[in-house]
Parts: sequence; C-alpha cells; structure tokens
Amino acid sequence: MSDGVKLVAVSKYHPVSDLQAAYDAGQRIFGESHAQEVVAKQALLPDDIQWHFIGHLQTNKVKYIAPFVALIHSVDSFKLLKEINRQGERCHRIIDCLLQIHIAREETKFGFSPDELIQMLNEGEWRNLSHIRIAGLMCMATHTADTRQVASEFAFAHSLFNQVRHDYFQDTPSFRELSMGMSGDYQIAIQHGATLVRVGSLIFGERDYTTQVNTLK
Ligand SMILES: *Cc1c(COP(=O)(O)O)cnc(C)c1O
Repeated sequence: MSDGVKLVAVSKYHPVSDLQAAYDAGQRIFGESHAQEVVAKQALLPDDIQWHFIGHLQTNKVKYIAPFVALIHSVDSFKLLKEINRQGERCHRIIDCLLQIHIAREETKFGFSPDELIQMLNEGEWRNLSHIRIAGLMCMATHTADTRQVASEFAFAHSLFNQVRHDYFQDTPSFRELSMGMSGDYQIAIQHGATLVRVGSLIFGERDYTTQVNTLK
C-alpha cells in the first residue's frame, strides 16, 4: 500500500478468530460498525488494537465505545459530535473523530452534505468541544461499476478536504485524515488522496449476516 495510507481491516460480522489471525499477521487497525459487536470483540482481543468505528452511530450507543475507541469515522451530525464529547469527558479521553460527508448519488447514505458541513463549521460551536478532536473527513462513493463516477466523487471529497483544512484547521496538524475507499474502490481512493482505506471482504471474505454478535467467538 502506498506511503502514508493506512489500512483499516473491516472485520464486522467476522469471528474473533479471523481478527486474531489478522492480528498475528501484523494488522493493528480494525474497523467495526456495531457498538455491541466491537465491545464484545475488544474484550477478547489484544489491548494494542486500534478500534475504528465506521458505521452509523446512534447517540445512545456512544457510551459503550467511548472508553476505548481510537477513531470514529462516521460522525454525521453535530448532536452526535456533542454526545461523543460528553462521553469523552466522562472517561477523561479526547476522542478522534472524522466528519462523514455525503457525496454519493444514493439517498440512503448518511453524512453531512457539503453545505451542511460548511454551515456546521461556520457556526463554530464545535470549537468549544474539548474532548473531541476533528481529525478529518470520511466518505463513501456511489456503489457503481462506473469507475469515472467513483473517481469524480473521490476527487470532489479530496478538494473539499483541502478546502476545509485550509479554512478551519490551518493550525491543527491533527486534521489530516481522509477516509475513503472499500474493497471495490480503494485503489481509486488512494489515487485521490485517501489516507485511510476501509477494506473488509477483500481481506476476510464475504460477511455472514446471520452471525449472532454474542456467538462471535
Ligand atoms: C462494511 C464497510 C466497509 C468495508 O466494505 P468491503 O466492501 O467489505 O470492503 C467499508 N466502509 C464502511 C463504512 C462499511 O460499512
């Protein structure tokens, strides 16, 4: 993988034994998208794993992951950011967060529209949140075989990232992550400036969605 791009091994729905095997091969960053599942896995696996939360996060679930999560990729509202801050304060941590932006054509994807993102940053209330750190942006491209479409969405995300960094985070070197790219499009994402790619099925194979979280051993 090219210089400076970090691999998030997306292990949702995969059993702890698969994560342990990836860990034994040297992988340290794992991405999960359900609070209950990541809490269960975190208890069973080595302490030096960096757990990244990548799925839609409900405010009432933040408290479960706040004590250990290394990065939350999927902050899609100011309300959620405030709750992460509140839970960070409770466990004396500063929690790294990415703001999820909606750039895909699909209606169903979560995230701030570019306008909502700029509006939230302009309002400035986030500057008062002392237990979160905004470390960059995250996005998902449209699920399509049209690679030109995907490339143009990632290029747009990259330019928005540069603009936001210039306009709001010039004195904040910790604003540096652009999380984009999955199994089907990570190479295009890297070409367009991704610093974190979230790859699941290419590493672990197909997910079995019938797996019960409490039997993940
Ligand atoms: C599941 C998931 C991934 C990984 O998807 P693959 O296609 O299996 O690589 C990446 N990002 C998010 C937000 C996901 O929910």
